[in-house]
Amino acid sequence: MAKVKKRNTKIVATVGPASSSYGSLLGLVKAGVNVFRLNFSHGTHDQHQEVIDAITKINERFNLLIGILADLQGPKIRIGDLEADGFRISQGDILHFVNKPCMGTREQIYMSYDNFPQDVKEGEKIVLDDGKVVLEVLETNHKDNVKLVVVHGDHISSRKGVNLPDTVISLPSLTEKDRKDLDFILTQPIHWIALSFVRSADDVLELREKIDAAGHPAKVVSKIEKPQAIRSIDKIIKASDGIMVARGDLGVEVPMERLPSLQKIIISKCMQRGTPVIVATQLMDSMINNPSPTRAEILDVANAVLDGTDAVMLSAETAVGKHPIKVIEAMNKIIKEAEKNYDLTGKRTKASRKSSTYYSDVICINAGKTADDIGAKGIVGITISGYTAYKISSYRPQCKIFIFSNQHSTLCALNLVWGVRAYYYDKFTSTDETISDVNRILLNSKAVRKGDYLVNTGSMPLRRRFRTNFLKITLVD
Ligand code: PEP
Repeated sequence: MAKVKKRNTKIVATVGPASSSYGSLLGLVKAGVNVFRLNFSHGTHDQHQEVIDAITKINERFNLLIGILADLQGPKIRIGDLEADGFRISQGDILHFVNKPCMGTREQIYMSYDNFPQDVKEGEKIVLDDGKVVLEVLETNHKDNVKLVVVHGDHISSRKGVNLPDTVISLPSLTEKDRKDLDFILTQPIHWIALSFVRSADDVLELREKIDAAGHPAKVVSKIEKPQAIRSIDKIIKASDGIMVARGDLGVEVPMERLPSLQKIIISKCMQRGTPVIVATQLMDSMINNPSPTRAEILDVANAVLDGTDAVMLSAETAVGKHPIKVIEAMNKIIKEAEKNYDLTGKRTKASRKSSTYYSDVICINAGKTADDIGAKGIVGITISGYTAYKISSYRPQCKIFIFSNQHSTLCALNLVWGVRAYYYDKFTSTDETISDVNRILLNSKAVRKGDYLVNTGSMPLRRRFRTNFLKITLVD
């Protein structure tokens, strides 16, 4: 396979009807996709199974480590079907939302949230259809009917998504559907599981418990799309393996003008902690239909790169768009050009004395400093869980990052992480032999040349499998 020149910032592409065949997936990989996202809001388990099998086949056939991220729908709220698929509305119109399924009319509209009349309060805002319609609660009977007034919008249509930015929602973070999807996901080679509408760190811990109970290696990505998640962001980042700035829902749940600063704050917090972060939604939205992006989209992708994100994600552009391959090719070019001109040194992580991994953090960060000082070609890390890779990457070093692991799942998961180039290695006999082996693997694969310097990290004694606790400068010869 012709190799796409490596970037530091990774690309996540959502799979859908426009991209789910083996040939389309392979085309997207050749164009530069690092991780595929399966959106469990759509599709059957059989359809997801076919995609997972195809990606696994591509990995095996071409010796690749493409990651798979399964995105759970979470407590997504929708209105029901409406007569004639919808009707016109205008400011000041009165509507009633009920919690018993019915065909929606001007008199009553079903919403898929049983406790809505109990949970909602007068004056709270209800947002429909990604912000196209805004309603305000006038009164609730606390049982089965909520009276609303139209604040903004001119048309309401069937099955549109609902956002309740002001309401303390009592729905569980894992719905019945999520649990069924999870039962399926936990039988599959999935590397990341994304949890939608996370409100607190406890939501993340509940999912993690289920993954651990199944003995599955998948890591958890928390999708930040609720004001409550913003209020608990530090705890959520601490509880998660990865974070997604889910700008679609976030942009309707918080005032839209807050999105740019929230994106920057979340990325910076993730970099400081060594937690991979994905910027998602509408990065190349116009390419759903058009063969090239708008100027604003080019800047949006480049700005996410300049913010230091680990990955950028495509949704409808690759799932249902007309030009999935062109989207990846365009994104690839934008990222590479942005990476020529960026300097993330001012954003670099520092080791926190409060961290339980403080001493290892110091080694990983100093590997970055040492590599800069000596002009090393790369830093080499060895990991089982992925921790060393996250930490080395979070320093955003100027040289390459080579990570070795004997865990195939970890290697695929690391394809989401900034700058990481991952390799399988399973022979841990002695520290000297391991260093010499991994350096030779890099030389043989032409990742480095004779005469290059590397900063090798690892853990001694080898067999005790401590966290990274040493660094060593080596010359490739
Ligand atoms: C988002 O809201 O930005 C997002 C990624 O979530 P979803 O596509 O699942 O609605």
